[in-house]
Amino acid sequence: MFNTLSDRLTQTFKNLRTKGRLSEADIDATIREIRRALLDADVAVSVVREFTGAVRERALSSEVSGALNPAQQVVKIVNEELVGILGGETRTLRFSKNPPTVIMLAGLQGAGKTTLAGKLALSLREQGHTPLLVAADLQRPNAVTQLGVVAERAGAPVFAPHPGNQGAETDTVIGDPVAVARDGVAHARAKQHDVVIIDTAGRLGIDELLMRQASDIRDATNPDEVLFVIDAMIGQDAVATAKAFEEGVDFTGVVLSKLDGDARGGAALSVAKVTGRPILFASTGEKLTDFEVFHPDRMASRILD
Ligand code: GDP
Repeated sequence: MFNTLSDRLTQTFKNLRTKGRLSEADIDATIREIRRALLDADVAVSVVREFTGAVRERALSSEVSGALNPAQQVVKIVNEELVGILGGETRTLRFSKNPPTVIMLAGLQGAGKTTLAGKLALSLREQGHTPLLVAADLQRPNAVTQLGVVAERAGAPVFAPHPGNQGAETDTVIGDPVAVARDGVAHARAKQHDVVIIDTAGRLGIDELLMRQASDIRDATNPDEVLFVIDAMIGQDAVATAKAFEEGVDFTGVVLSKLDGDARGGAALSVAKVTGRPILFASTGEKLTDFEVFHPDRMASRILD
């Protein structure tokens, strides 16, 4: 995903290594190259500005470590600032002391929520949990079927509206998603599932109904985690979309999906910084095993490698 960005930053640092001492002009030239590389990768302008400002200030101040030459020093600063943008520490799922732990998924249609539900379920099962998937995406009749397919692959049961309620392939709502979500959590408690994953409806764009429905589901189920799933390929729209979901649903964490794509992806890298919410997972393909815990430090190293 970040090959071009990675290549450009590597080249910038290579140029720097040929220099012994770094003048202010050297540092400014480097900062300019970093800025261009980040902007070309679609990183949000506000994030780039803050990032380059911090790198410049630290590089110019006498942050000297005996073991590192000036170029290595700059690379170290860039690395640390990049880790900061990506959220700093690795943040894992928070489990409720009073099970079931409720995880609600939110995001635009096509972001990868249903696939993520299966990935999470599989990963949780491998860790000894007993997840239940809840089909509260009733906007598209197909979504319930799709969750069923994913759940079967993950080996986890699904709580869904009664099949008789499912309409044909129309846009009509086939049940009350808030009631399904609430009943799903009650069902999990009764059947002693220790985790509930609620798949919710998305739209192609942000709309008021979608946001209201998501926040109603949130209020009805009091989730321990609300994960906002964002397609890393959507480019600059990522930041506006994330902000809209932050205001509308107030998520607790982010999942970057489709990180296997070859789009520029920098906007997705801005989401943690812009919303102040950590990135918990990365989705890297269509298979249920294409899924990993997001480590800000490892991602920064991968980009700067
Ligand atoms: P939803 O509408 O948010 O539930 O999105 P889906 O889970 O249905 O995913 C939409 C499409 O993206 C499907 O074709 C998925 O197979 C695909 N998809 C989901 N996650 C990934 C991923 O990490 N990488 C790739 N390449 N495709 C993905």
